Amino acid sequence: MYFQKDFECMPQIDIKRLQGEKLVKQVKYVYDNVECYRKRMDEAGVKPEDIKGLDDLKKLPFSYKSDLRDYYPYGLFARPMKDIVEIHASSGTTGKRIVVGYTKNDLDMWADCSARMLEAIGATKDDIVQVSYGYGLFTGGFGLHYGAQKMGLTVIPISSGNTERQIETMIDFGATILACTPSYALYLAETAEKMGVVDQLKLKAGIFGAEPWTEEMRKQIEEKLHIKAYDIYGLTEIVGPGVAFECSEQAGMHINEDHFILEIIDPETLEPIEGENKLGELVFSTIDKEGFPILRYRTRDLGFIKTSKCKCGRTFVRLSKPKGRSDDMLIIRGVNVFPSQIEEILLQNCDRGITANYQIVVDRVNNNDTFDVYVEMAPDLFADDMASIEGLQKLLVDKLRNILGIGAKVTLVNPNSIARSEGKAKRVIDKRKLV
Ligand code: ADP
Ligand code: ZN
Repeated sequence: MYFQKDFECMPQIDIKRLQGEKLVKQVKYVYDNVECYRKRMDEAGVKPEDIKGLDDLKKLPFSYKSDLRDYYPYGLFARPMKDIVEIHASSGTTGKRIVVGYTKNDLDMWADCSARMLEAIGATKDDIVQVSYGYGLFTGGFGLHYGAQKMGLTVIPISSGNTERQIETMIDFGATILACTPSYALYLAETAEKMGVVDQLKLKAGIFGAEPWTEEMRKQIEEKLHIKAYDIYGLTEIVGPGVAFECSEQAGMHINEDHFILEIIDPETLEPIEGENKLGELVFSTIDKEGFPILRYRTRDLGFIKTSKCKCGRTFVRLSKPKGRSDDMLIIRGVNVFPSQIEEILLQNCDRGITANYQIVVDRVNNNDTFDVYVEMAPDLFADDMASIEGLQKLLVDKLRNILGIGAKVTLVNPNSIARSEGKAKRVIDKRKLV
């Protein structure tokens, strides 16, 4: 059992008090140990002593993804490297990745959060979880791994990819829980159908997140794999998977409020939005982290909270499915992609006869994301020599893969052929309709 009732079922009033107490300590710790926060708080005229409880949170300056780029790689860590035991990274808005570090205690807290989500979907020590999230610098694989081990489940750390082998493994090793992105779950389901082996699977539940998915996708996954499909939410900057999780009610994701404080703000006015069911940008503060604490982090994810009582008994408020973003980040095959990353690569290669006029088209075909990048050639270098066009396309594919970590199909198109709307090109066409 990994139901931490003392916290997960604490009356809201006590949770708020606990959050306030921890916040006061975290703010002082961050001020003393991280230059960026100290400077920003000094500029805003806020001293750690001004933060006396939860109500004072709004006095603190926000933090942003760009801070992680500006202080790349370790500038926002609050501990010397001798205390950091693990590094993870995810996409930044431009070429540089965002980097986070965990102390031993942070890993322990992360594993707790992750174990809670497995507990909430009904996992027990008898379960065998196939972790088909990517291992490595992304947080998905290890996040689930640590939680499952903490709970005493059996972990199959297979990572992502090699779909037929995944299914063979699920069958032969008797996996009962599948952890991966929802789009990959659907792809696995369809492959299992094609292989005619669905009834040999022992799966009973799946724990899916890291990208937007619809109720329709949930239904499909549940029907095809004969499982219950649960949603989880997380982001590298906060902890990775384990920030919020669904319980048996499948009606919103309980936020691990003893470790993280969620505020909802209007992304335009930056004013707090109080109350349930009101859409706004999610802003998180960590209150227990040592290695990479973060305060009032603007996630750019849009969502709302539900505060009504949950039948499972947990009192942590629930987060809606994210309803889009207040920036232009795309999630393609579970990986964050910013148009600015692509623009930067094109600008660096303009001397090769291309322009930075481009269009990204994303679609979902057979449950796999397609990712096309159309790039206009420069008028003066506009070539009809197939070999050089193909060479240039290949070069851009490689450069994009290096920065983004996923493959794109690059097509060079004639000068001025990408439609401009009101003089400005529309950079992204997302046909997937996920939110
Ligand atoms: P992860 O790999 O854990 O998703 P990243 O930091 O790479 O971590 O990406 C985090 C972003 O992924 C979030 O800000 C959010 O936009 C998206 N995301 C994570 N979980 C979900 C989810 N369950 N539903 C929709 N989007 C999600
Ligand atoms: Zn619940």
